[in-house]
Amino acid sequence: MKTKSLCPECLGVIDAEVYEADGRILIKKKCEQHGDFDDVYWSDASLYYKFSKWRYDGKAGITLTKTDKGCPFDCGLCPEHKSSTALAIIDLTNRCNQHCPTCFANAAVTGYLYEPTMEQLREMMILLRSETPPCPAVQFAGGEPTIREGFVDIVKMARELGFAHIQVATNGIALAKSEEFCHQLAEAGLHTVYLQFDGVTEEPYKKLRGIPALKTKLKAIESCRRGGLKSVVLVPTLMRGVNDEQMGDIVRFAAENLDIVKGVNAQPIAFEGRVDESERKKGRITIPDFINLLEEQTEGEIPKESFYPVPFVLPVSYFVEAWKKAPQLEFTVHPHCGAATYVFVENGRFIPITEFIDVEGVMEFLLDAADEINKSRIGKIRAITGLASALKRFIDKDKAPEGIDSVTSLSSILGIGNREALAEFHRKALFIGAMHFQDAYNFDLERVKRCGIHYATPDLRIIPFCSYNAIHRPSVEKSFSVPLHKPRLESV
Ligand code: SF4
Ligand code: SF4
Repeated sequence: MKTKSLCPECLGVIDAEVYEADGRILIKKKCEQHGDFDDVYWSDASLYYKFSKWRYDGKAGITLTKTDKGCPFDCGLCPEHKSSTALAIIDLTNRCNQHCPTCFANAAVTGYLYEPTMEQLREMMILLRSETPPCPAVQFAGGEPTIREGFVDIVKMARELGFAHIQVATNGIALAKSEEFCHQLAEAGLHTVYLQFDGVTEEPYKKLRGIPALKTKLKAIESCRRGGLKSVVLVPTLMRGVNDEQMGDIVRFAAENLDIVKGVNAQPIAFEGRVDESERKKGRITIPDFINLLEEQTEGEIPKESFYPVPFVLPVSYFVEAWKKAPQLEFTVHPHCGAATYVFVENGRFIPITEFIDVEGVMEFLLDAADEINKSRIGKIRAITGLASALKRFIDKDKAPEGIDSVTSLSSILGIGNREALAEFHRKALFIGAMHFQDAYNFDLERVKRCGIHYATPDLRIIPFCSYNAIHRPSVEKSFSVPLHKPRLESV
């Protein structure tokens, strides 16, 4: 397949080809000035083709810039963009209380301080809420967002502005230090802690973070629990030879702490800046590797067939939109950006949702039902009244985990029916996902045009995550930064 990518040296847009070789999907490209580059795009061709089926074009929830220099230089969002904001990221500071050897973005290294003012933050959030449909979720990031002065007030501001999901991406140091801080954040309306969590032993932390941080992570989880926070998602940066042997153990750890840990979201490492070719090729790991590792390390209990790409759930939006006659968020991100599933745990065994629900059947049914509702009023009545009995045929009750009412839960996900059943479903379900952020070596403009994870910036632009990190971050940060005199450093 022909596509466009970036030259890792000059960051110019160049032609690229994504193709199959030896059961894998590779990307190759040539820059007239800097030569040839190649890399692994997806390490499992069969999974690549399976996921390719779910490729859609949506539309941006707002257009703020013009088509001028071409993608990815027109962000954004520009008229060419094909997805609305599913999750907004706002960097609160580039200061950090940890010094990861792999991070070149923190204030201590760059020599400048980037901290949008409270007024800028408010304007950025208002902009996100003005999208159609309004952006539902915001994640505060950095640097380390928890050390930003006024962080609790910023969470409150997000809640007042109507975000349904408010998250923080954190190393957990500040949370580990203070239960009271966790309590204040819970009161302010923080929903989910995205906790950097690279493994269940100290080794991965020593390599990736330069310190043994496991105790801090465990303390942070305990602090969240005691402080009244309800949801922690473990976020391992996945690197070959560092923690690829620990994916099963991380998921088991999550399952043992299901009262508070609601998910594991792995991030295969992206290579920043210039990277030695042999080091890059040795370390490159992609989403299918994560899926296959998990299958191996759970003795097949979480098989690769249980994973689907993000846009797989698009028919849910079509159905709810047809039924409620109001624009719904459509997950149209590129099918090779991420993968996910839900699993349950019963008697120490994992039961993926795909073991007892024919999820593909449900999605096809919802597409047809959305069509029927759009056609006529009678169709709408028929679709809604018959929904529960229609859904039953996709569920194998005998294989479902105890206490899970699948029909009622599915109906509730669609906005019809019993919220308690849905709450019970979420209490017992563990989300497992992976998103592979792009670097200049595997960058694919087809992916970034469909990105649904967007930075909001103080110049009131909305910039897709992978485009921001590959292209726009330095210029945005420099325009809104002051020279750094005294970095404030903390440790536990
Ligand atoms: S990434 Fe999206 S917003 Fe940015 S230039 Fe490309 S299409 Fe436009
Ligand atoms: S952040 Fe990157 S990997 Fe994730 S959806 Fe956007 S383009 Fe894809």
